Amino acid sequence: MRKLALLGSTGSIGIQTLDVVRGLCRGGDFPVSIQVLAARSSVKQLEEQIREFRPQAAAVFDEKAAKDLRDRTRDLDLEILPGMEGLCQAAAWDSADMTLNAVVGMVGLRPTLSAIAAGKTVALANKETLVAGGSIVMEAARQNKVEILPVDSEHSAIFQCLQGCPEKKAVKRLLLTASGGPFFGKTRKELEGVTPAQALRHPNWNMGAKVTIDSATLMNKGLEVTEAAWLFGLGPQDIQVVVHRESIVHSLVEYVDHSVIGQLGTPDMRLPIQYAITYPKRYPSPCGELDLAALGSLTFAQPDLETFRCLKVCLQALERGGLAPAAANGANEEAVALFLQEKIGFLEIPQLVEAAMLRQPDAPADSVEAVLQADREARQFVLENA
Ligand code: MG
Repeated sequence: MRKLALLGSTGSIGIQTLDVVRGLCRGGDFPVSIQVLAARSSVKQLEEQIREFRPQAAAVFDEKAAKDLRDRTRDLDLEILPGMEGLCQAAAWDSADMTLNAVVGMVGLRPTLSAIAAGKTVALANKETLVAGGSIVMEAARQNKVEILPVDSEHSAIFQCLQGCPEKKAVKRLLLTASGGPFFGKTRKELEGVTPAQALRHPNWNMGAKVTIDSATLMNKGLEVTEAAWLFGLGPQDIQVVVHRESIVHSLVEYVDHSVIGQLGTPDMRLPIQYAITYPKRYPSPCGELDLAALGSLTFAQPDLETFRCLKVCLQALERGGLAPAAANGANEEAVALFLQEKIGFLEIPQLVEAAMLRQPDAPADSVEAVLQADREARQFVLENA
């Protein structure tokens, strides 16, 4: 039986994770019990989840919302864990054996480290923590002999393609697929007046607002290249991004003999979520069956790095290493928030991310404090220059 701590339970990945848990419990072969849930502030939804899944505790990042949850759940035997400390306690919850971190943004870094320190298997959907703190997270995982299982669909695909790989040197490169987002094929001129509503209309995937905007700018793919570099121990030169509009091939591994193994499936996050939870086993899932004949054809293309500069900036940041990716990520989080509030234009996102990355001095990402400081300074820079 899997005993799960779920962080970010009211977000898109969190909701889909609970759906996977329902399905697995119904199936009966792989029961999952929710030990603790954590959310930022959506107390009403969290309360419903608590009443359905009956965890021992619930963490709420927003302290006022935590008080509200306490009032709403007085009839339950439930421990309430407020603030960042609560989130870290939830991540390291004693009775859990796996922590699924689906928190959005850098706020997930400390909880990830907290789960690793407590020896939990980490199912990671929070890519920003690897982008900004990859060296710290991977080193902590190595020291604590903790496995980090990818939940991101591309990384899950690569992870699946690597099953049965005899040794790391047998891998030539990773081929990371990108849908290209809603603005594939557009020119910079055409992107000038793009609105948040247009950017939020992703053609294939059902995701939260932040990652959907990141998909429209291709920042998401830049973050994912960085995430892949850390997860699989490869450099940027060993990871190639391929635009694949249909989002059916979720990524591929090319071996030294030029055999290429890919993982395919309908674009449904519940598949990679379930694989992380049941790994290395497989069970029936709620995802639809793939009908290749009905699809007819699959297409592939080069990414346009000049129109979608965020990807290029992330590749440069990864090449530079140290705190450069943390600066790019922090700047992007702030720029996306400003774009969603209609305070900046779509094309200002890459401009701000690039400027913040370039002004970040070369320095190693050797402590959480250093990473958080680079993140803070990049955000401040964006707020002052937007
Ligand atoms: Mg992805």
